[in-house]
Amino acid sequence: MSAAAPRQSTAGSGMTSERTRLRMITRLREQGIRDEVVLGAMAQVPRHVFVEEAFASRAYEDTALPIGFAQTISQPWVVARSCELARAGNAIDMALEIGGGCGYQAAVLARLAKEVYTIERIGALAAKARKTLSSIGVNNVKVRNADGREATSNVVQFDVILVAAGGAAVPPNLFGLLAEGGRMVIPLGSPERQRLTLITRNGESFQQQAFEEVVFVPLKSGQE
Ligand code: SAH
Repeated sequence: MSAAAPRQSTAGSGMTSERTRLRMITRLREQGIRDEVVLGAMAQVPRHVFVEEAFASRAYEDTALPIGFAQTISQPWVVARSCELARAGNAIDMALEIGGGCGYQAAVLARLAKEVYTIERIGALAAKARKTLSSIGVNNVKVRNADGREATSNVVQFDVILVAAGGAAVPPNLFGLLAEGGRMVIPLGSPERQRLTLITRNGESFQQQAFEEVVFVPLKSGQE
């Protein structure tokens, strides 16, 4: 970008333009993301509308940014890698996200899955995510304000579960929500650092595979 570029509103071009977004996609490819369907979905989602206005010009950098309430939007690489591991090259029917935050990853998932449920424990963030998603025309995401660790269902199971907050272990309820052959991606480890972990369901057996080291905000109990 030219140093002499005029300052512009974040709704226009400049640092929030499609070109900037495509540069993010090129960088993700260089960082090892291989799933072109995931990259294609991320090329379509305007990330800058999910961050606070003051940070919109940095929305396409590979970094986590504040979204209020001491929470962050996940860095693009983490979103891409989580979706890539969860998708394993297949179209997704039902997806569940725990830790919806500002709704960005849910918007990406909405392009990879038929139906997306996202659970966010902070009510004000859930409300904001709902509003942002509808403002960009995403209509296959249901946002729930609840503690995702307590989620249960007698009627739906998910072929993909993405947990966007870190913990020492998988919340037991989530095993039951994973469909046969389903894949869950969850950051497991200490509060300081975790590994992106893939859990695959095969009948009543759950296989676990650890991938890259990551840092997520903690999975907390209760709802606000
Ligand atoms: N998916 C978001 C990242 C959000 S950060 C994105 O696209 O950028 C993680 C979010 O998890 C925070 O908003 C936090 O409030 C939420 N969270 C933490 N513990 C939770 C729980 N038990 N249930 C639901 N949400 C939780």
